[in-house]
Amino acid sequence: MTHQKPDARTLIVSARDVVALLPMSECIDAMTDALRTLALGGAILPLRQIVRMPGGRKAFGLMPAALTNPQALGAKVITVFPDNDATPYDSHQGAVLLFELDYGRLIAILDASTITALRTAAVTAVATRLLSRPESRTLALIGAGVQAETHLEAISLVRPIDAVRVWSRSGTRAHDFAAKLGAAGTRITVCETAREAVTGADIVCTVTSSREPVVCGEWLAPGTHVNAVGASLPTARELDSEAVRRARFFVDRRESTMNEAGDFLIPKSEGVIGDDHIVGEIGELLLERPTIAGRRSAGEITVFKSLGLAIEDVAAARSIYDRAVATGAGTWIQLGGLRDAHP
Ligand code: NDP
Repeated sequence: MTHQKPDARTLIVSARDVVALLPMSECIDAMTDALRTLALGGAILPLRQIVRMPGGRKAFGLMPAALTNPQALGAKVITVFPDNDATPYDSHQGAVLLFELDYGRLIAILDASTITALRTAAVTAVATRLLSRPESRTLALIGAGVQAETHLEAISLVRPIDAVRVWSRSGTRAHDFAAKLGAAGTRITVCETAREAVTGADIVCTVTSSREPVVCGEWLAPGTHVNAVGASLPTARELDSEAVRRARFFVDRRESTMNEAGDFLIPKSEGVIGDDHIVGEIGELLLERPTIAGRRSAGEITVFKSLGLAIEDVAAARSIYDRAVATGAGTWIQLGGLRDAHP
């Protein structure tokens, strides 16, 4: 009987490799599959654990998940330090750990900053394709950081965007953003106020680290679709209560929203909305026979509240790993994992 040599190697995938191995259009497909699988009951997804550092601004998060399609088991381990936006360092740093299911081997360690930047925007694109008006052309970006950049790329893939407005708190960053991405041919207008950016926009994305509302409901034109992406704590929100009240409200996951989303929990605590304000999870709209209705008219305002789910990270990691193995990208290391290698 021949014994195959056991393979306990782990693939290291850098930020550069993540970008090369997961084009946005394919990330959108991977997120579509992952969210559909969640809606079909094919995910094990505990709520994330957050270690809040003294002072309350810095956080360390552990986000585990298992998914049946694509088959993926792992966790994202990440710091979120919002004040890094004044430094050269990314505000989200860490790794996605990917395991296989036969022996539980750790098969890959991947850069979490780039995966987070890509998968979040890809999920927003899935929601935007499902909920915005197909003819949506004007995009307002509230915030001009990492997520603003990937959101512009992702949304331009699903809607015929020909005018982009950007607003950021400092202004400088919005101008830098417009100079960098405008050079690539997109028409970008820097707005003096968030209200100016939002007024008359077809699609609005809030991608800030603000804890207070940056978008008010009274600014939203009929038919607008809003992606509320930046706030992920029960005490933080980017939309005021009126924006949430006026909207048909969709989420990435009900349980997470009920526990983690200030955009939902704060208007609920004010008595403005109840639990029944959540229409459903966007994955439910991806089922062969959707159990809920999406946009019902051209005049309806829709909101997608994104918190970010570990299934998105492990699904992205799986896709990157499969491509890396097929193309020979990444760097293999022997971390451990073999019984007879113990000292
Ligand atoms: P960046 O640090 O790159 O950019 C942050 C942006 O938020 C900057 O434009 C900054 O403005 C703006 N901002 C910061 N504080 C405030 C404030 N008090 N009021 C208004 N604007 C403010 O962060 P990212 O782009 O990586 O992330 C943006 C947000 O998205 C974060 O809150 C992050 O936690 C969240 N996020 C959500 C995910 C999800 O799955 N839903 C996943 C990943 C991130 P300026 O510097 O111009 O003043």
